[in-house]
Amino acid sequence: MRRINQTYVDGQFVTPSGTEYASLYNPATEEIIGEARLADATDATAAVAAAKRAFASFSKSSKQERIALLRRLSASFSSRMDDFRAAMVEEYGAVRGVVDNMLPYAPQMFDDAAQLLESYEFTQTRGTTTIVMEPVGVSAVITPWNLSIVFTAQKIAGAIAAGSTLVVKPSELSVIQTQIVSEAVHAADVPPGVINIITGRGSVVGNVLTTHPDVAKVSFTGSTAVGQQIMRNAADTFKRLTLELGGKGPTILLDDADLTTSIPAALTLGFLNNGQTCFAGTRILAPRSRLDEVLGTIESGTSDFKAGDPQDPSTSVGPVVSQKQFDSVQRYIRLGLEEGAQLLVGGEGRPQGLEKGWYVQPTIFTGVTNQMRIAREEIFGPVLVVIPFEDDEEAVSIANDSPYGLQAQVFSEDTARAHQIARRIEAGTVLVNRIFSDHEAPFGGVKLSGIGREHSTYGLESYLEPRAITA
Ligand code: NAD
Repeated sequence: MRRINQTYVDGQFVTPSGTEYASLYNPATEEIIGEARLADATDATAAVAAAKRAFASFSKSSKQERIALLRRLSASFSSRMDDFRAAMVEEYGAVRGVVDNMLPYAPQMFDDAAQLLESYEFTQTRGTTTIVMEPVGVSAVITPWNLSIVFTAQKIAGAIAAGSTLVVKPSELSVIQTQIVSEAVHAADVPPGVINIITGRGSVVGNVLTTHPDVAKVSFTGSTAVGQQIMRNAADTFKRLTLELGGKGPTILLDDADLTTSIPAALTLGFLNNGQTCFAGTRILAPRSRLDEVLGTIESGTSDFKAGDPQDPSTSVGPVVSQKQFDSVQRYIRLGLEEGAQLLVGGEGRPQGLEKGWYVQPTIFTGVTNQMRIAREEIFGPVLVVIPFEDDEEAVSIANDSPYGLQAQVFSEDTARAHQIARRIEAGTVLVNRIFSDHEAPFGGVKLSGIGREHSTYGLESYLEPRAITA
């Protein structure tokens, strides 16, 4: 049993003032594997004060000092990869494929930010005006449990590159991963107070951070409902906001798509991270003229996605994160049937042979209209829908008829045609004949998927304020 009872404030591991303990679970066994002492409002206030003190000098640090710090963070995160891997598997059931493909993005975030800084000009001239890009100030970073190491690294990298200081509040469901992140930060010789990391309840610590007058910016990754609450909280003090929220991404298979490559790719993205990925393509849009062929290829392709123990390297779909999430996904599967959709594969209950653990069967619905709730709401489990379209116009119209707009995919043998379609999709990212973005690209959404962009120059500038000096 693990007992995690320290937070990281002002360069030190300290016992929080909060006295509440949260249980930690292994979703593959449903067993309690430890407990964590949560920070409270007093801890949050102390962390903001530490970040404010540190801002006075860190905001004046040179570009070279920040580049060196980012490189140290990258090296420090790289040296803990085995520990991160083990924690992701144990704490949220991440499978080998996800860990191997996604985790390397964490140290990469620091290297990308360092490289960007080399050429970024903090002082720019426009006519008679000098524009000085100043660090925004104390930044609160609030992260979800899924891929938390990568999202946390991304936000830390942006803020450090800009010269802003941080209070990071990770999810209560990623305490083990957070412990290793905190140790990696400490080992990177970060000046005290520049990065503070406190895990506590969103309604307690999150509330302090999103209302505190000394916090200039909130960068949040999580659900749309919490994003809306954060925006309301931030209104009184006009905090700068980056909100990376949910999604219901379309994967469009145009009528000339190569199904032997596009369908395995669509399923990989749809089931990624056990179906718990904001940018997953959970609506597969298929040409009606090839519907039987598409459904046949999907049905046989899904058998390659083995559900089961995340410790087993041959598993593609592990458990969902919690009992609450398991119950919610099961409700959606029942809802789909009540709405009149049909099951192509999967269904309610655990996959055969698994009696324990929050395992969901990889499930795909057909006979779905885009108006059904299973086509409009983020399910956050391995549950996909196939929606037919008549022609390109209808494909675009269905893709855009969504409250969300985070990421979309277009598959076609004709890249120019796919590009034309891509330009008409309302989403922050549209991928053509691929399912993972380029690490040079900005990331973020439109509509209920959020506000702002991370990564690249856009991400760096989200932690900066332009000051115009005109003489
Ligand atoms: P969540 O919104 O429940 O929690 C995210 C974080 O917000 C946690 O740290 C939580 O403690 C905190 N929080 C909760 N209430 C708060 C409040 N009132 N004030 C401040 N903070 C509060 O999300 P989750 O279940 O951890 O993650 C899943 C969700 O995150 C999904 O909707 C998913 O799509 C989304 N997500 C989005 C992205 C993206 O980049 N767009 C990436 C990953 C996950």
